[in-house]
Amino acid sequence: MKKEAGKKKRTRYIVGNWKMNQGLEEIDDFFEALESAGPLAEGVKAWIAPQSLHLERCLAKTRDLGLSIGAQNCFGEGEGAYTGEISPKALQELGAHFCLVGHSERRTLFGEDDALLKAKAKGALSFGLVVIFCLGETLEEREAGKTFSVLEEQIALGLEGLDSDPDQLILAYEPVWAIGSGLSATSEEIGKAHAFIRETVSKKLGAWALECPILYGGSVKPANAKDIFSVESVDGALVGGASLGPSDFRSLVSICAGEGR
Ligand code: PEP
Repeated sequence: MKKEAGKKKRTRYIVGNWKMNQGLEEIDDFFEALESAGPLAEGVKAWIAPQSLHLERCLAKTRDLGLSIGAQNCFGEGEGAYTGEISPKALQELGAHFCLVGHSERRTLFGEDDALLKAKAKGALSFGLVVIFCLGETLEEREAGKTFSVLEEQIALGLEGLDSDPDQLILAYEPVWAIGSGLSATSEEIGKAHAFIRETVSKKLGAWALECPILYGGSVKPANAKDIFSVESVDGALVGGASLGPSDFRSLVSICAGEGR
């Protein structure tokens, strides 16, 4: 059921996207190291998206750690003749909490278009998964002055008309040129893009979407996290490379929890 838009305390997130990394041994080592170093800083939701085949392992390993586990991708339908696809219903049954939709690697390497991404977002939401919807411009698009029109189109075609709850839909602004490149957008660029995204989702989806959290993603690491999290509109980060090591992951949660704000 949709909640009334109103004032509430903003939630912060650190979401690790492990992509197609971490074998079983590395997963066990990661969670053991995290556990033995004590509880993560409070006040931040710490989430990890492993490969789908490793979801159960991660769920079992994090039962007492207060972390949530989710998927990197899913299909729009819960069941049927869709050979090889990842069912949002199966994700829900396993205990996955969230699903990434529209990561730039899915868009570019696997040709996922906005219509498919919309179906995926709808499917995931209908099975109670939190959707982290990724959007962002390529370097070519930025240099051609098209950043805002690209973001607007991704929102219009991928999300318009979606009816949800601000707790169920998270936006992740990830400039494609910053992902895995070591280059991060500046605080000013992030602030402008987030403001534009917030305004556009509220126009296209309704006032409820004003409260959807907006994460930044693109080469976030402990060394630049303080600056990034000091941007008022940043509700946390979607992190690839730096989420693979327990010590960096822990540091990012700590920085997001308090420093630089
Ligand atoms: C990502 O994969 O979403 C990402 C932001 O990766 P990285 O942090 O490695 O740039």
